[in-house]
Amino acid sequence: MDSAVIVGAGVFGASLAWRLARDGVAVTLVDRFEPGDPRATSGGESRLIRCGHGPDAVYTASARRARVLWRELEAECGEALMVECGLVWMAHAEDGFEAASAATMEAQGIPCERLEPAAGDRMFPSFGAEGLAFLLHEPEAGVLRAQRATQALARRAAAHGATVVRAQAAPDGDRVRLDDGRTLEADVVVWACGAWLGGLFPAQVAIRSTRQELFFFDGGPAWAADDVPAFVDFDHAIYGTRDLDGLGVKAAPDFDGPPLAPDAELPPATDASERLSRAFLRERFPALADAPLAGSKSCRYELTPDGHFVAAPLPGQPSVWLLGGGSGHGFKHGPALAEAVAAALRSGAPLPAQYALGPRDTLAGMFRTAGATG
Ligand SMILES: Cc1cc2nc3c(=O)[nH]c(=O)nc-3n(C[C@H](O)[C@H](O)[C@H](O)COP(=O)(O)OP(=O)(O)OC[C@H]3O[C@@H](n4cnc5c(N)ncnc54)[C@H](O)[C@@H]3O)c2cc1C
Repeated sequence: MDSAVIVGAGVFGASLAWRLARDGVAVTLVDRFEPGDPRATSGGESRLIRCGHGPDAVYTASARRARVLWRELEAECGEALMVECGLVWMAHAEDGFEAASAATMEAQGIPCERLEPAAGDRMFPSFGAEGLAFLLHEPEAGVLRAQRATQALARRAAAHGATVVRAQAAPDGDRVRLDDGRTLEADVVVWACGAWLGGLFPAQVAIRSTRQELFFFDGGPAWAADDVPAFVDFDHAIYGTRDLDGLGVKAAPDFDGPPLAPDAELPPATDASERLSRAFLRERFPALADAPLAGSKSCRYELTPDGHFVAAPLPGQPSVWLLGGGSGHGFKHGPALAEAVAAALRSGAPLPAQYALGPRDTLAGMFRTAGATG
């Protein structure tokens, strides 16, 4: 493979562009927006990076590999993109998702420690342990500055020789038709179009686009300290971060939101979701229960029926690939997924079967929620 056109400069497409351009492939990276645009899913301010993924060894290993590659990107661009503040899972049962995550991480030699609920007192500025069975601490997990990381990926791809084009693209057999009248051809074409992927290839892939909401609370200086970990309450479907970059403490309810078309404007966040976030804070971080709201917004998930990514060639068109279906947990994996896809494109290295096209089971319950907790 000497040349590639990649449509979509979100984290998936830009990571692949960076990977292939570094490997000497002539890459053209096309997007209708600037990389990191807030209308794309990768354009948010922060995304969790954690290896805990229940019993799923594939995503666990991928997140761990991604951590190394994110550091390589930081070294290339000289920016601090990953904040390794650790992450605490709040386990409500002895034998749930967190216990399975711990077993999978231990089997892969990934640092994690099981702590008594009371340990939360020394990890968070304010903590309520009620109802918790244990805490699972991933000390090397943390938060990615998502928008900046996406922009850095595209910039570094360009520095390695990629051409970045701003245009809207449409499939034309194994070529790419741009709205500026040009048609692009390459050895490989990869469509990494986030929430728009399903509309471009409705016969091949089912992507549901939903509205999700985020809240930022002013918790004062204690919540801005470097060592306050990120957190996930898997059973209660909520996650968040400390106050990073002065935005406020992030709390994001993580239920499947209502449908929101890929091109629809992102509406303001709702009072109902704010109440839900505050109810969680009141119980778990009592000092934040009445903290002033510093900001709120909505964003878009692009969900496959089973929460697994899509990375596969079109049937009968081996040079045309679909890449996407991040399903609320894709960001962290970007560079590791790109590495795996690059190996598949170059030498036919197998990808995990769960990324294939074809029928998907709707909602493998536990996995779905797991997928969407960052
Ligand atoms: C609120 C929220 C919180 C999240 N939290 C986490 C988290 O904590 N941890 C985590 O790992 N993941 C998280 N995720 C998921 C993660 O952000 C996404 O899985 C990931 O960003 C998807 O990247 P993408 O490149 O597939 O899509 P996108 O970022 O949407 O990129 C797709 C790009 O394709 C372009 N495009 C589409 N169609 C065309 C076309 N026809 N022509 C030209 N360009 C086109 C778009 O303009 C866009 O830039 C979260 C997502 C949301 C919304």
